[in-house]
Amino acid sequence: MGDTRHTRVLIIGSGPAGYTAAVYASRAMLKPLLVQGIQPGGQLTITTEVENWPGETEIQGPDLMVKMQEHATAMGAEVISDIITSLDLSKRPFTAKGDGGTTYTADAVILATGAQAKWLGLPSEEKFKGFGVSACATCDGFFYRGREVVVIGGGNTAVEEALFLTNFATKVTLIHRRDELRCEKILEHRARANPKIVFAWNKVPEEILGTEEPMGVTGVRVKDTKTGEESVIPCDGFFVAIGHAPASDLVKDQLELHHGGYVKVEPGSTRTSIPGVFAAGDLTDHVYRQAVTSAGMGCMAALDAERWLAEQSDLPAAEAAE
Ligand code: FAD
Ligand code: NAP
Repeated sequence: MGDTRHTRVLIIGSGPAGYTAAVYASRAMLKPLLVQGIQPGGQLTITTEVENWPGETEIQGPDLMVKMQEHATAMGAEVISDIITSLDLSKRPFTAKGDGGTTYTADAVILATGAQAKWLGLPSEEKFKGFGVSACATCDGFFYRGREVVVIGGGNTAVEEALFLTNFATKVTLIHRRDELRCEKILEHRARANPKIVFAWNKVPEEILGTEEPMGVTGVRVKDTKTGEESVIPCDGFFVAIGHAPASDLVKDQLELHHGGYVKVEPGSTRTSIPGVFAAGDLTDHVYRQAVTSAGMGCMAALDAERWLAEQSDLPAAEAAE
């Protein structure tokens, strides 16, 4: 049997939204517990340079997240290495079960579980995952020194991944289903100026090709979206960068969701469909999905939780400053 921990505010997730909520909830004397999940630090830990975090012209994603964790801890938050496997929002206190055996009970919950990489859904993608198919250039790019790789997608992630992979690969082919990128112009400019990057416009992958002994990727069969013509692009690595889906599985049958799984919050707030449950960051945001907007929503969630807790006559007030 595991132990039970009670907290006024349970924060689930350790990306910019979770850590910012932790800073604010700590400063409100709510002594929050923050459960980090399987990816401590969140999505920014799988990127390199971050150039749009105010106050830092350039900072490595993992370094930024270490700083955020240190900030939350310094303010008094308890950061716990655990994964929430189930969450019961049907009665108060809310109950969360941790993978490590701990049961967490909480007067208020801040959900900040972010988003996870999307996959194409091809059987051949599944077959070669970890054997040439990846969704993280920062993690796996090093294996492709002197080799040729493909990146699929046309957003910021795909173009950043393509640029990063030019540090290792001899050639990076960016496959996009349209003939126009959706990434920021500065990234597009860099990609177009990079002689190692080749664009394959209006193409969708049909099958990832490879060998079984040894297990590895040798190319990708693509179809032209305009002509229907098929062709093969040889490559040793296939990087999927087609966006992210909200990590709302824990609450999908309990909270109102919209836009394909994003937690719905009242406009201008972080209040979900259950009083006392707040949501912030990429989990709720199908529009902006940035570190700074997630952090902003983390702040809002902590302030919303603090106000909501103060209105509950059956709960104790926040602790006075020591
Ligand atoms: P996330 O960062 O997704 O964090 C979610 C957290 O929830 C993780 O810690 C995870 O472990 C935790 N979690 C999930 N499920 C559970 C569970 N069951 N139990 C406990 N914890 C759980 N944005 C920018 O502004 N600038 C950039 O340069 C930039 N670069 C990017 C590069 C890449 C490759 C990617 C993928 C994204 C990038 N973004 C960038 C977007 C940015 O990373 C996200 O908008 C931001 O991280 C979202 O923050 P978040 O706190 O909502 O969630
Ligand atoms: P995204 O902006 O949603 O882009 C996904 C790309 O993949 C799009 O180009 C899309 O094509 C393509 N795509 C989607 N499904 C596909 C499929 N099944 N087959 C082929 N192509 C497919 O996702 P993202 O690039 O991961 O970015 C997510 C968020 O994080 C964005 O808000 C982004 O701004 C942010 N981010 C920011 C930075 C930064 O600030 N430097 C870096 C990375 C990410 P279409 O264009 O045709 O839809």
